[in-house]
Amino acid sequence: MIAFGPVPSRRLGRSLGMNNIPPKVCSYSCVYCQVGRTLNMQAKRQTFYMPERILEQVSERVKSVRGAGEVIDYLTFVPDGEPTLDENLGRCIEVLKPLGTKIAVITNASLIWREDVRAELMNADWVSLKVDSVIEKIWRKINRPHRSLRMSAILEGMLQFRRNYGGELVTETMLAEGTNDGAENLKEVAGFLADLNPARAYLSIPTRPPAEKRVHPPDEETVNRAYQILNRQVNQVEYLIGYEGDAFAFSGNVEENLLSTTAVHPMREEAVKELIQKSGAGWPVVQDLIKQGRLIETEYEGQRFYMRRFSKRKDDRHE
Ligand code: SF4
Repeated sequence: MIAFGPVPSRRLGRSLGMNNIPPKVCSYSCVYCQVGRTLNMQAKRQTFYMPERILEQVSERVKSVRGAGEVIDYLTFVPDGEPTLDENLGRCIEVLKPLGTKIAVITNASLIWREDVRAELMNADWVSLKVDSVIEKIWRKINRPHRSLRMSAILEGMLQFRRNYGGELVTETMLAEGTNDGAENLKEVAGFLADLNPARAYLSIPTRPPAEKRVHPPDEETVNRAYQILNRQVNQVEYLIGYEGDAFAFSGNVEENLLSTTAVHPMREEAVKELIQKSGAGWPVVQDLIKQGRLIETEYEGQRFYMRRFSKRKDDRHE
């Protein structure tokens, strides 16, 4: 199916997904990929579906969704593979524009060193680039790139794209335990992201079964450390850890406010105290959430932080 959804997305609101690549053709074979191992590894662009066919299927879907009174905020290229491998991506964006909905592309950025790919992405309204590591050895280990790809060219391509792109550029860094969650890697990633200056730098963890069973999400303490390291150099660091359902929730309910805020970023103890005080509730609310296993208390450099609990305990994991 070329068009699916819309699905609720924390980053994009109601996003209608577009599969412009058959499963699973990719230039990477990330160890955490939720689509499984890459079956067709390639870095060469080609035609998969004609843009007219994509337009036809997306138009039909948009019509039926709108007919049912639903809203679509973005048309998003989010295939089971790498969308820029489609040599018609630029043309697809062009023919979809008249539908009047913003267009988003979620890419691993592996082909952004190419001028044609950069030019095509320019026409999208929102682009997400993958930056798991800027250390060659770690990049190879986590993303397992096609042998023809060069990390330095990809990083330079991202910076070049940034200089000319007028839309909203975001990044995504997926953390895998013991692979790219160390302080050394994160400091390097932070340095690169500071130069790239995305509108938002998302930190995520594998929340669905990964391609390799040995891959696990890091624990909250490690994710908090990653957040703090990035946050020192990068504006707008946010978690993207799978709480699409209630991440926007805001109400007079202090528990909900605490959980939805800490699902996006960790809160310092003082900030939590202030929130609790404003709501007229007492500290037992926090203690209860910790007891229920929904909130985690963690420390970093002498400061206490509170985070939404997201990872399974090691002993809960089914190997
Ligand atoms: S780039 Fe995306 S689709 Fe390709 S292997 Fe990595 S996670 Fe999977």
